[in-house]
Amino acid sequence: MLKPNLPQLDYEFFAPRRIRFGWGCRREVGTLAAALGTRAFVVSGSRTLAAGGALDEIEQSLRDAGVTPLRIANISREPEVADVDEAVATLRRHGIRAGDLVLAVGGGSAIDLAKAAAALATNSAGESVRDYLEGVGRGLKIRNAPLPLVAMPTTAGTGSEATKNSVISSYDPPFKKSLRSDQMVPKIVLVDPELTVGLPPAITAHTGMDAITQLIESYISRRSRPIPRALCWQGLELALPALVEAVENGESRPAREKMAHAALLSGMALANSGLGLAHGVAAALGVHCRVPHGLACAVMLPAALRANREVCRDDLARLGSLASGLKFASANAAADEFIDFIDELSMRIGIPRRLSEIGVSAGQIPDLVRSSHGNSLDGNPREISDAELERILKQML
Ligand SMILES: [Zn+2]
Repeated sequence: MLKPNLPQLDYEFFAPRRIRFGWGCRREVGTLAAALGTRAFVVSGSRTLAAGGALDEIEQSLRDAGVTPLRIANISREPEVADVDEAVATLRRHGIRAGDLVLAVGGGSAIDLAKAAAALATNSAGESVRDYLEGVGRGLKIRNAPLPLVAMPTTAGTGSEATKNSVISSYDPPFKKSLRSDQMVPKIVLVDPELTVGLPPAITAHTGMDAITQLIESYISRRSRPIPRALCWQGLELALPALVEAVENGESRPAREKMAHAALLSGMALANSGLGLAHGVAAALGVHCRVPHGLACAVMLPAALRANREVCRDDLARLGSLASGLKFASANAAADEFIDFIDELSMRIGIPRRLSEIGVSAGQIPDLVRSSHGNSLDGNPREISDAELERILKQML
């Protein structure tokens, strides 16, 4: 019936050196950071500052452990080229010395900004982060080891705390590209799911669907690998039943824990396996229509599953049994069950179905098609031509 479940046993696997996960474990940040250095450049997300003194508490933990915190940047949107250049300039003004590290506390935006700043602090061949970005820059590489990075996510979504790239946007000219190096994986990841308790329902829904999309796309990616597949399976087993609870009852500790853990696994998976169609189009939706990343992924996921339904039928069938807990008479029925499950989950947590509902107009489709190609789409289980992508997007208007 189903084809065997194991991809080729020939692989490499990257992950953060040390992971600490636990409710309330943010208070251990000082001890963990002290293992890396004595001065921490802090990059935070805007919500972190507002969230009931969490940042003050984290900085106090650093001081108690003999690590001096220095706030260098605060970001409330997905980072742009100028944000990175500014953070790097601020960091260099302090004079970089032995014992320096970078601490990111925030959502994917803050972690991506911190990751880029940590890498460029020690790599100064270029004038701007742009010189290092894939596909648009001068092709410069991260040669020197970045400042060690501690990542503390405050959302449960991008998994950026466990990846080796930083996604940087530009609106003029329009692009959304990665700064990437194996050396950019954070040294220490500290996930305290309690930090996600105050997230509003819409952000919980969008970031949660980002994690779920990453787990699915990494699972079925044409570059899927054995360890990431195992991580994806566990991540989906936990996240699929937990997301509605996290959205509807943000105080639920089990739901927040499951989503935070699933997001972390999704980062480790995507860093090693790549993604697919939903993420390819999400980057374009971010650049041309300013749709937040998680929302863009969530809107695109059902269409991406349908586009890959034939080539990934057996994998989707496995996920159909996982999601529903049922046995099916045929792989076709189980695969269809999974796509229906995702459709219903999206609807339940208020994800729009149509691109027009997130501000996309017919005139933008050619730009979206053009900008969808590149990194993420390369991992899709099968080739998607421009004509097919145009058809998919037009049907979704
Ligand atoms: Zn994503």
